Amino acid sequence: MTLAADTPATTSYDLGSARALSCRECGAEAPLAAEFACARCFGPLEIAYDFPEITRASIEAGPKSIWRYQDLLPVPSDVRSHPNTEPGLTRLIEADRLAAELGVRKLWIKDDTGNPTHSFKDRVVAVALAAARELGFSVLCCPSTGNLANAVAAAAARAGWDSVVLIPSNLEQAKITTTAVYGGTLLAVDGNYDDVNRLATELAAEHEDWAFVNVNVRPYYAEGSKTLGYEVAEQLGWRLPDQIVIPVASGSQLTKVDKGFGEFVKLGLVEDKPYRIFGAQAAGCSPVATAFEEGHDFIQPVKPDTIARSLAIGNPADGPYVLDAVRRTGGAVGHVTDDEVRAGIRLLARTEGVFAETAGGVTVATARKLIEAGLIDRDAETVLLITGDGLKTLDAVSGEVGPTATVPSTSKAVREALENR
Ligand SMILES: *Cc1c(COP(=O)(O)O)cnc(C)c1O
Ligand SMILES: [Zn+2]
Repeated sequence: MTLAADTPATTSYDLGSARALSCRECGAEAPLAAEFACARCFGPLEIAYDFPEITRASIEAGPKSIWRYQDLLPVPSDVRSHPNTEPGLTRLIEADRLAAELGVRKLWIKDDTGNPTHSFKDRVVAVALAAARELGFSVLCCPSTGNLANAVAAAAARAGWDSVVLIPSNLEQAKITTTAVYGGTLLAVDGNYDDVNRLATELAAEHEDWAFVNVNVRPYYAEGSKTLGYEVAEQLGWRLPDQIVIPVASGSQLTKVDKGFGEFVKLGLVEDKPYRIFGAQAAGCSPVATAFEEGHDFIQPVKPDTIARSLAIGNPADGPYVLDAVRRTGGAVGHVTDDEVRAGIRLLARTEGVFAETAGGVTVATARKLIEAGLIDRDAETVLLITGDGLKTLDAVSGEVGPTATVPSTSKAVREALENR
C-alpha cells in the first residue's frame, strides 16, 4: 500500500502570485478556490499574495493592457495565451478646461470609456475569466446593471464560452442590445438589481461549472479594479494623486483602487504619501453617502430610483469598506440629483470632449459639489474616474441636446440660422 493512495488530493492552481484567500473580517486564510465567504465568520474573502520582485521597468516593458500588471493579479501564468478582451491602459488626460470651470488648480480624467465594451467592467471580467478557467469553470455568468452584462457577454464570446447574463428588465435599451449582440443567454428579469443578484446566487449554487463573476468568483473579479489605481499612478509618472473621485455601486472598485495604491507603495513603485479618496453616488441610490453623512459604520439598504442605473445597487456589498477607505484617507462620499447628473455629463462633454454615461455624470457633479463644499482641496491635484461611455445611456441627455437649428436646404436659410445662433 502506498502512502499516496491515502493522501487526500491537494488541488493547487496556477494563479500567479496569489497565495490564498483571506477573510477581510477575521483574517482567516483558505486555499485558493471558488469561494467568496469565510467559512469561519461569513466575511468576504479577498486575495492574498506573495509578490515577486517587480520594477517600474518590468511593468513598462509589458503589454499595453492590464496584463502589464499580471504579476499583481490572481491569474495563471499563461493568461496571455488564451483569448480575452485585453482591456486597460486607457488614457489619462489633463482636464484644464474642466479644472477652470470647477475652480481647481489641476485635474485629470481617467477615461475608461476606451475599454473594449466601453466601461471599466472589462477589467474585472478579464481577470474573472482568466481565474475561472484555471478554477475549472466553463460558463461565464453575472447578474448585472448593464455594463457588466456587456463585458461578460463579450469576453465569453471571445473565449468561446457560453454565457448566462441576468439583468433587470427595465434596463436602458442600449445596454440590452449591446449585450444581446454577442450571443449567449440573456435573461431580463422583472425586478431590480437586488432581485437579480439574489437569483444569481441561487443559480451559482446549483450549477458547478457556472462562474458568476461577481458572486462565486468575486474575490478574483474584484482584483481587476486595482489596475485602475495602478494605471493612474503609472500614468502620473509613477506617483500617487492627492485626491481621486470614484463612483460607487457595490463599492468594490473604490476599495480596490485604494488597495492598488497601497500595493504600489509596498512594492516601492511609488513614494508613500497621503491621498484622499472620494466616493460619488446618485441621490436616488445613495446608501453609502447617507451612512457617511450620518456617521454610521453600517449601510441601510435603499430601493434605487435614479437615471444612473449602472450605480443602482441598493444594498452594496462593499459599502462598509468604502466608508473605511474614505474615512481613513480623509475623503468623503457625496451624492447628486439626476438633474445634476445630466448637467455633469454635458459639462464634461463641453469642456473636455469626453462623453460619459450617467455614472460619469455622477462623478463630475459630485466632484463639483465636494469642491464647492470645501471637502475637495482646490489647490491639490485631483483625478476623476470616468468609468463608462455616454453612448450607453443616450436617453439621459437626448431630450436636452439636439441640432442648433433645422433649416431648409438653401444658403440663405443656413446663413440666417448661423446669424441667429
Ligand atoms: C459597475 C460600475 C461602477 C461601480 O462599480 P462597483 O465596483 O460596483 O462600485 C461604476 N461605474 C460604472 C460605469 C459601472 O458600470
Ligand atoms: Zn472570517
